[in-house]
Amino acid sequence: MPIKPENRSRYPKDWPEIHLAILERAKYRCEWPGCGAGHHHVGYWRGEQFVRMPQVLKDAGYKAGDIVICSDRSELKLLRIVLTIAHKDHTPEHCHPDNLAAWCQRHHLAYDQEHHKTTAYMSRKQRACTLELPL
Ligand SMILES: [Zn+2]
Repeated sequence: MPIKPENRSRYPKDWPEIHLAILERAKYRCEWPGCGAGHHHVGYWRGEQFVRMPQVLKDAGYKAGDIVICSDRSELKLLRIVLTIAHKDHTPEHCHPDNLAAWCQRHHLAYDQEHHKTTAYMSRKQRACTLELPL
């Protein structure tokens, strides 16, 4: 996930090196069990499995962002995998390798879903400047 500007100061100065070390540990593959999507690979999701773009589509000039119409008229959206480094405890200062994971966007979002719901709620609440009324 991109680092939010308000959290940037919470990351250590050597974050670029830490980020790179985790990508190298993961061999540039998503560390989510069973995923293995490769950093900057282009392809599509078939259920829970990432499928790299077949050579025939590369030869035809397809690229990430394109939609392929299949013979059965279904559509495939071609995506570029970008591995992001997740803090499992959601604490940017906690950069021990055991707390970090290289995950694709899909699995990082899945892991963070509950956390996102909470932070999105708090952001909306702060923007609205509303009072929390007792039920
Ligand atoms: Zn993944």
